[in-house]
Formats: sequence, C-alpha cells, structure tokens
Amino acid sequence: MRYGAIEAGGTKFVCGIGAGPDDLQKTEFPTTMPEQTVERAVAFFRGSGVRAIGIGSFGPVDLRPESSTFGHITSTPKLGWRDFDLAGAIGRAVGVPVAFDTDVNAAALGEARWGAGRGLSDFVYITIGTGIGGGAVVGGRLLHGLVHPEMGHIFLPHDRTRDPFAGVCPYHGDCFEGLAAGPAIQSRWNTPASMLSADHAGWALEANYIALGLANLVTTLSPQRFILGGGVMKQAQLFPLVRAELLRVLNGYVQSPVLLEAIDEYVVPPALEDRAGVLGAIALAAQSYT
Ligand code: ADP
Ligand code: ZN
Repeated sequence: MRYGAIEAGGTKFVCGIGAGPDDLQKTEFPTTMPEQTVERAVAFFRGSGVRAIGIGSFGPVDLRPESSTFGHITSTPKLGWRDFDLAGAIGRAVGVPVAFDTDVNAAALGEARWGAGRGLSDFVYITIGTGIGGGAVVGGRLLHGLVHPEMGHIFLPHDRTRDPFAGVCPYHGDCFEGLAAGPAIQSRWNTPASMLSADHAGWALEANYIALGLANLVTTLSPQRFILGGGVMKQAQLFPLVRAELLRVLNGYVQSPVLLEAIDEYVVPPALEDRAGVLGAIALAAQSYT
C-alpha cells in the first residue's frame, strides 16, 4: 500500500510517496503562496494511486477533529498562510483522506516507527532550525493536549551578563526559540549559524540553552531519549557539548543508569536524518487508513 506524505515547512515543502524508508520517492520545492504551493504538491500526487496523505505541518495548527478550522494553519506570521485550510485544500484536490499533525509530531512518529525512537514508549523529537519545536511520544502515543505542545517557547534562565542578546521571538523575546534557533544565532553573532566556526564560543552558549531546554523536558516528561534534528544540529560538535551540559545542569538529581552510563544514546541525531518528517507523514497516513 502506498501513501502520500507532505512535510510542510515554512521554507520548503517535502512531498513523498511510498510505504516506508525503502521505497520512498520524494520531491521538494520552496514554500511560496499557499495556492501555488498546494498546486505543486497536488501535481506530485495526481495519478499516483496513494490511498491517503499524511501532512506534518509548520504551525501553529488546529488539530482538534471537532473544530470547524481543523487542518488549518492558525496564527502564523507567514504571509498568506494565516488561517489557511491546508488539510482541506490537499484532501479536496487529491480526493483521498488526509491525516494532519505538526511537523515535529510527524518526525517523532517517523523516528518511532523506523528510527531512533523504535521500541521506546517515551521520547522527544526536537528540531532546532528556523524555529524550535518538539514532538513527544508519551506512553506510546503522540502527545497533543489542548492544542499541541510548543516546546520551543519554554522559558530558560537567561543570564544577561553572559549573553546580553534580547532574543528574537516575536511573542516572547528570549524564550528557547528566541535565544537558540538559527535566526537567533545569526542575529547574536552577525553571522549565519552555518558559517560560525566549530570552535566559536557561540556553540558553548548554544549547548547551554539546548541543555536547559532538555533539562526542563527531562523533569516534566521523563523521556527515555531525545532526538535532536534541524539545521542547527548539523553542527555535530553540539552533541557532546549538549550531553555534558545536560548532566551538569541536572546536577545528579535525576537518577537513571541511562543518564549515568549511556548519555551518548540519550541525546542523539535522527536515525532517518532529513527524512524523519516526510517518513513520519507516511506513517501518519498509514495509521489513519485502517
Ligand atoms: P527549517 O527549520 O526552515 O525547516 P532547517 O532545519 O534547515 O529548516 O533550519 C534552518 C536554520 O538552520 C537556519 O537558521 C540556518 O542558519 C540553520 N542551519 C542550517 N544548516 C546549518 C548548519 N550546517 N550549521 C548551523 N546552522 C545551520
Ligand atoms: Zn517564543
């Protein structure tokens, strides 16, 4: 059975057709205005015979099935996309059922099914890219709650003597995303994050913020693993820094052999690499089509 998948990002759309990692065919294109972007996605699926389409979307999104705006992108500042009915537009044009969730919940589901979350009942997938977002598997299920988690907007202790940068979140200034997403790094150092040298002092600060974010999640959700993806985490030197910083911040309080003896397996990159989101969207479609 082949399914369709869309990882709808604020910068690009990744579309896929397949049943899993072995047969995934994918394409990607920039996110422009909604109608034009949807038309490109629909053209990819037309005639493909997919039975259902899963969409993992940037947000915030409305995930409440009973809501009149289910499947809409809601309060985004992204031009043209506010209140856009993404799930509806795709479903009507392709004529198949659509399963809809956040981009990070989809990525978490992909990793749960085929990647670094296999066999775990509780873990968190976090992307650190243009924004910061997290998807959690709790007791074997994706966590949704009232709307959906917004782990990028938690508040961290911000030492303004060490880091006078005010933060770039339009809603909160110096929340986690405001301090630590790619645009914050660029704005703080006047250099794109991808251009900062591996030994730049900015990475120790970045690791501190990421570790503080993870520590708050360790103490609230008690996950068995963190999977960290997104453009900023392409800086491989961040992983050992974040692991060490997480242990330092927790300061021995959370007692688990995993933290004490297997920290390298506790904070890991996505096993599916850049395909976690689109494969997760395949899994979303498959789950809905039963
Ligand atoms: P998006 O979040 O838009 O889906 P990405 O996850 O690729 O896309 O994140 C883009 C952000 O990640 C940009 O702010 C960019 O500066 C940063 N980024 C991309 N590649 C790297 C890299 N190799 N090193 C550090 N930062 C990177
Ligand atoms: Zn914020």
